[in-house]
Amino acid sequence: MDFIRNYQKQIRADLYCGVQDANRGNEVDQSGRVYILPASHTGSDRWYHKWYKNAMHIVQKKGKPTFFITMTMDVNCEEVRNHLRSDQTPYDRPDLICRIFEMKRKELLRQIKKDGIFGECIAYLCVIEFQNIGAPHMHLLIWIKNFDETPNNINNVISTEIPQQGEPGSKDRELYDLVMKHMIHGPCGDGYRNNLSCLNKSRNGQCGRGFPKSYEVVTSVGDGCFPNYQRRYPVEGGNTGTKHIGGMEVLVTNKWVVAYNAYLLFKFKCHINIEYCHTVASIKYLFLYHFKGEDMVTVEGLDKADEISYYTTRRYNSACQGYWRSAEFDYVKMEPPVIQLPIHLPGQQIVVYSPNKTSVWVTLERNKRTMLISFFETMQRCENDRDLKYEDIQERYS
Ligand SMILES: [Zn+2]
Repeated sequence: MDFIRNYQKQIRADLYCGVQDANRGNEVDQSGRVYILPASHTGSDRWYHKWYKNAMHIVQKKGKPTFFITMTMDVNCEEVRNHLRSDQTPYDRPDLICRIFEMKRKELLRQIKKDGIFGECIAYLCVIEFQNIGAPHMHLLIWIKNFDETPNNINNVISTEIPQQGEPGSKDRELYDLVMKHMIHGPCGDGYRNNLSCLNKSRNGQCGRGFPKSYEVVTSVGDGCFPNYQRRYPVEGGNTGTKHIGGMEVLVTNKWVVAYNAYLLFKFKCHINIEYCHTVASIKYLFLYHFKGEDMVTVEGLDKADEISYYTTRRYNSACQGYWRSAEFDYVKMEPPVIQLPIHLPGQQIVVYSPNKTSVWVTLERNKRTMLISFFETMQRCENDRDLKYEDIQERYS
């Protein structure tokens, strides 16, 4: 942070040349008082904004994502418990929580990308976040090539019903137990629990996640971002289950089931929600949600123009987040990679050099031809490709 504060001139040179977030232009003009926290600082607003713009470029090229998966670390999972000393709780070992979650994250991506469990995966975007108390969770958007949007195909991947209970020791019973343990929302609201964070007070105590959902005889795709999944009423064949809450047994129906995929639930044994993305309408919201930034405390009277103080004063970290950062695990990962192409006026490209004379001249000579200049030269040479855009040239010639 001291480095960033002391090298503002160089950072602003970068900013003025359009590499960083242009939205902050007005603030930057108040030179002298303003301290910029650049996009190169992991976790800063500009860093998130840069990733948001990169992610939206994937949508521009590949269309809407197919599935939206959220995986939450179960800190009491077997893998963690097996490595704890008798006097330890899971949160005494943030290193263990993070490393196990990272292994699960990699395995999930491997199965989706290499094994193609949902079909041919042509792109993905993965963002790691930390809940207040500290456990990591992941939001993952995946693009599947030519996924045929029929209710049947959606039902083959996603379920929102309680499975049959089955005999003890059977696969059915195992799935039933996993759904009841990890994939039941709340239940929240009147007659259930009133202290859950999903109960948004500004909306008359209604659940912020839209539970309980309505019963649906069949899956249908409407105008919303996600479809209305099949959730059968108990008398129409829907199963029910019991959940123990505060010493009470509560009867739960399909209204409370969070959308899940049975294979992923068996494999990862944690809260792993999967939704089908139906329209592009809410994609911008979904992406903004992905890149909303870290949770911050509210502090009155801070100078927003000093982005460094504004960030460091309000930020709070969990031990898991600290470990994640020091272990250099990724916060954001996407494929195909997106790079920001440099744009500049003639002779005004950015040149980074060491402050000695020889180096300056060598570096200037080396930077005479930038990507943009090379693009113009290529366009002059190749008559057949005159309609090619700057952003498409990498794809065409790589
Ligand atoms: Zn709720």
